[in-house]
Amino acid sequence: MNTDEKIDSDIIVVGGGAAGLMAAGRAAQLGARVLLLEKTDSCGKKILVSGKTRCNLTNSAELKDFISMYGDNGRFLFSAFHNFFRPELLGFLNNYGLATKVERGGRIFPVSDDAHDVVRVFKKYLAANKVQIELNTKVTGIAIQDNAVCGVKTQNGNYRSKAVILATGGATWPSTGSTGDGYKISAGLGHNIVKLKPALVPLIAHEQKLAQSMQGVSLRNVRATAFRDKAAVIDSALTPDCVYGRGEKRSPRPPVIESRFGEMIFTHFGLGGPIILLMSLAVAEALEKGPVSILIDLKPALTREQLHKRLQRDLDKSSKKKISSIMKEYLPAKMIEPFIELTGIDKEKLAHQITAPEREKIIELLKALRFNIKSALPLEKAIVTAGGVSLTEIDPRTMASKLITGLYFCGEIMDIDADTGGYNLQAAFSTGYVAGEKAAEYVNHF
Ligand SMILES: Cc1cc2nc3c(=O)[nH]c(=O)nc-3n(C[C@H](O)[C@H](O)[C@H](O)COP(=O)(O)OP(=O)(O)OC[C@H]3O[C@@H](n4cnc5c(N)ncnc54)[C@H](O)[C@@H]3O)c2cc1C
Repeated sequence: MNTDEKIDSDIIVVGGGAAGLMAAGRAAQLGARVLLLEKTDSCGKKILVSGKTRCNLTNSAELKDFISMYGDNGRFLFSAFHNFFRPELLGFLNNYGLATKVERGGRIFPVSDDAHDVVRVFKKYLAANKVQIELNTKVTGIAIQDNAVCGVKTQNGNYRSKAVILATGGATWPSTGSTGDGYKISAGLGHNIVKLKPALVPLIAHEQKLAQSMQGVSLRNVRATAFRDKAAVIDSALTPDCVYGRGEKRSPRPPVIESRFGEMIFTHFGLGGPIILLMSLAVAEALEKGPVSILIDLKPALTREQLHKRLQRDLDKSSKKKISSIMKEYLPAKMIEPFIELTGIDKEKLAHQITAPEREKIIELLKALRFNIKSALPLEKAIVTAGGVSLTEIDPRTMASKLITGLYFCGEIMDIDADTGGYNLQAAFSTGYVAGEKAAEYVNHF
């Protein structure tokens, strides 16, 4: 280290997001002298945008189901969750005056619906335990001596410490400060970085004009199924009638990749909304191997036969009405024109003029609106980064690096990502807590 070294502390936490704030507070609570270095002008920026600014803190799911939301890497979290899980998190927040509530899908939010209240809790927690915070300080590297941490390098000079906790987050939503710095720093120390991929992100379709013509239309209670292959060759009868995806016990049979039921939206470039975000990582991974399509069942509650009967009845009942008028019963207004164009039927045609093949075409499209997927939006537009510091090089009981003594990881920088529902923040809080605790134990025995 240079002679221009700054504050001497026991532990330096790099990054003031959910994981870093928890780690800093816990380590200081155990008596360590903690310095938190944050590169932006305030801590907790991503907490503030989370859950549409309401902050979906965690989920009420049972531990086993909870863990399954992280896919295969979820096993890594067993130990951290054993130490600090939802009851501990909610108890901690409660102690600082933050009441929480459970909503649909087990999602847990502050009663106030205001993410600022979560950041305020951490401000109090860190102040109460005398964590020193330096804002606008970008860490550029970690100083190592004899394979052990001895401080960090920043743009404003160097800082000495006995341990460092890297909590720099992922590489999404860079305006919140998460620009992937920690990956470079870790790779520089010899850590393996599992390929970064966008998770929970909208998808770009080849049929952009079609999507654009329906832009802003939000659909509820629809089924989206991702298939391996071009949309045109998929047999729509393969659309399953159950959900396939993370957290589900059954696995789909090829060519099905994932199938989800719920809400989605058309955007100017393709598909977005909750069920599309959930399947985006699996789609992005499948795209590396070949074409992928998404078929949208606009009427999943009805079988083809039921739909057939209903349509025939409506056509008979309103035989003098235009087909575009009949479709009002089936589709949101903005979708009607593009939909009829897809069927190839003249929109001025009257109900009684609709032929049997045309009726079949309408039913086929209602059951399988087809999109070929070009790609996911880039990483910076994703909610979470999949990939990151390889879990094989981190001790799950302590969050310590297996390569460098005194180095700890927590939060999204690690190769952990989950579905929406509060799972990502719980992982950040739990791993932050463990990293803080174990780093404090380490420096206490220094
Ligand atoms: C729009 C959006 C909504 C979300 N909603 C939810 C939700 O409701 N529920 C949920 O569970 N998850 C949600 N997530 C995901 C969740 O917010 C993140 O997984 C979680 O916040 C990650 O926490 P972290 O502390 O690991 O990283 P971050 O919160 O990204 O924090 C990293 C911190 O490190 C700092 N930093 C980076 N590099 C350096 C450096 N070189 N030097 C110093 N400081 C540095 C950054 O400025 C930042 O403050 C959402 C994400 C987004 C983008």
